[in-house]
Amino acid sequence: MRLEAITFDLDDTLWDNGGVMQRTETGHYAWLDQALNEWREGRLGEQGGGAPPADAAGRFAERFPLEAFIAHRLRLAAEHPLRRGDFTWLRHRALGELLEAYGLPPEQAAHWARRAMERFMALRHEVVPFEEVEALLEALGRRYRLASITNGNVEIARLPLGRHFPVAIAAGELLAPKPDPRPFLAALARLGTTPSRALHVGDHWEDDALAARRLGMQAAWIGPDDRPLPGGIHRLDHVRELPALIRWLERQR
Ligand SMILES: [Mg+2]
Repeated sequence: MRLEAITFDLDDTLWDNGGVMQRTETGHYAWLDQALNEWREGRLGEQGGGAPPADAAGRFAERFPLEAFIAHRLRLAAEHPLRRGDFTWLRHRALGELLEAYGLPPEQAAHWARRAMERFMALRHEVVPFEEVEALLEALGRRYRLASITNGNVEIARLPLGRHFPVAIAAGELLAPKPDPRPFLAALARLGTTPSRALHVGDHWEDDALAARRLGMQAAWIGPDDRPLPGGIHRLDHVRELPALIRWLERQR
C-alpha cells in the first residue's frame, strides 16, 4: 500500500505520561496553596489583585484538598458533557469555582485560577519523549506528512518535537475527543490525504486503534496484550518498532 501520512497520539505513545501527570497535578495545586498563603500573609504585595478578603480563612488546600478538586472536576464534566474532553477548561473552571467557595471575590478567584493554570501548563510540558522518538520523527517526516492528534492538553508546538508536526489537533478543545472521527478527518484533510493512505499510531484501544480503523486508516496500536486483532490493526510493544511495521505495510499490495 502507498502511505502518505502518519498521525500520532501523544501521551503514552511518544512519552510516558504517568509520572508527568502526577507531578503536574500535585505540583500546581501545591504551588497555588503556597502562593495564596504568602499573599494572605502580605508577602506578595498586589500580585493577588488587591488585598485578600477576611473570609478566606485557613489554608486553601486544607479547606479544599486535592481530592476535593478532583471530585469537583468530575462533577463539572458530568454537568457539561460537551466539555468532558476539554480538560484544560474543566481544570480552569473548577479552580475558579473552588477559589470563590474559599471566599475570594470573582475577580481575585479568576486571577489565581489563571496563575495556577499557567503553572499547570508549564509543569504539564515537562515531558521526556522516549529516546528514539526524535530520530524516528525526523526520518518519517522526510517521507510522510505527520500530524499529532491528542485528547490531552499538551501543546506539541511548545516542545522541540513540535517542529515535526505541521498539523496538530487538540481534539478535546475541539469538543470532539477521540474516538470521535472528526479530529482524524480534520488532520487528514489538513494533510491533504485520505484515510486509506494514512496510518494512526496510539496506545488507546478504543480512542486510537478502533477509531482510526473504523475510518479505514491503518492503525498501529501500542498495547500490552495479545488480544485478537482485526485486520488493519497492528500491535507494537513500543513506538520504536514503527519503522519495521511501515516497511511491512509498504510491501503489502
Ligand atoms: Mg495516549
